[in-house]
Amino acid sequence: MKIPYTKPSITNLEVEYACDAAATGWGDKCYEYIHKFEKAFAKYLGVKHCIATSSCTGAMHMGLHALGIGPGDEVILADTNWIATAAPIVHLGAKPVFVDILSNTWCIDPEKVKASINSRTKAVIATHLYGNLCEIEKLKHICSDANINLIEDAAEAIGSSIGTKKAGAMSEFSTFSFHGSKTITTGEGGILATNNSEIYDKAFTLSNHGRSKHQNKQFWPDEVGYKFKMSNVQAAIGLAQLKRIETLILRKRAILEQYKYNLKDLTAVSMNPELSGTINGAWMPTAVFDKSLGIGQKRLLQVFAEQKIDARVFFWPLSSLPMFKENLLNRNSYDIPTRSINLPSFHDIRDDQINQISEIIIKLVANG
Ligand SMILES: *Cc1c(COP(=O)(O)O)cnc(C)c1O
Repeated sequence: MKIPYTKPSITNLEVEYACDAAATGWGDKCYEYIHKFEKAFAKYLGVKHCIATSSCTGAMHMGLHALGIGPGDEVILADTNWIATAAPIVHLGAKPVFVDILSNTWCIDPEKVKASINSRTKAVIATHLYGNLCEIEKLKHICSDANINLIEDAAEAIGSSIGTKKAGAMSEFSTFSFHGSKTITTGEGGILATNNSEIYDKAFTLSNHGRSKHQNKQFWPDEVGYKFKMSNVQAAIGLAQLKRIETLILRKRAILEQYKYNLKDLTAVSMNPELSGTINGAWMPTAVFDKSLGIGQKRLLQVFAEQKIDARVFFWPLSSLPMFKENLLNRNSYDIPTRSINLPSFHDIRDDQINQISEIIIKLVANG
């Protein structure tokens, strides 16, 4: 039997809520779970406003549009990212500027951000990769000095925090994903979160096909907006997942801890860091093999496939993709994926399966 790398944890609670939404959530009640989910998520995160969306990509698209980003503008992001973070920038006619990551956190390098800011730069997107946290205080200073917006892509960072602030509550706005692979899921789905009422108002209007809350005329859009809404049935599943959020995050963290414990004697293998004063939500346990070991991505994929374990590659640098093809000198973004692998971490993975996977890594390091 294959060990998958991810699958959601669905209990009777999710089924009960989804059935209720399917049976009763129509007519006057067709937004009931959506509003409950948005409110509960805002409360969990500690922000004022949330807008549930059909995907994280859609939330980012609306948010960037609400900031007025368009043709001629530049948005800085880490070269190591999922395409979802860059695509909305391109669709809005702006230019994604890919900068290198730090070798310890695999997140955007603030110094590289600083060096890439020019008069066209409108925003910086900080992606908290695999649950690891960006150096948000440094980024905040750099962005406020340059008078540009800081945004968080927190798709992978539910459960991560710095001090008392949760990832996704530390910038102008943030986006989360509820894709089936994420820590909480609605099948497909996302959310935009913000404390900024102006951004919220603009994004809300955009999310509603350009129809403002303050417009009294029916069916009257004041601008061309988007249709990126989450459905009520999806929100019902999301609300149930959110009620279980502490359990889901604790399990993610326990899985990462067990991998780290099992591999603690392998000084040449590093995993997701948890810097002092921070909590890592541990969405995706990832092992990076030191260059000295000579164990590359191809070998890792082969060994895991032989053992029927579904391991995934570390994100390719976006600048290496055919539509960007920029061949930038982003050393870490090009180097780390060549000697790394994402490990299975679904909620119901058994301890003996984690031990089995760890054992494969230990043997591989011992025998090369
Ligand atoms: C999953 C993910 C997204 C996209 O989420 P969708 O809901 O699939 O649009 C965006 N950014 C990052 C970093 C992700 O991991």
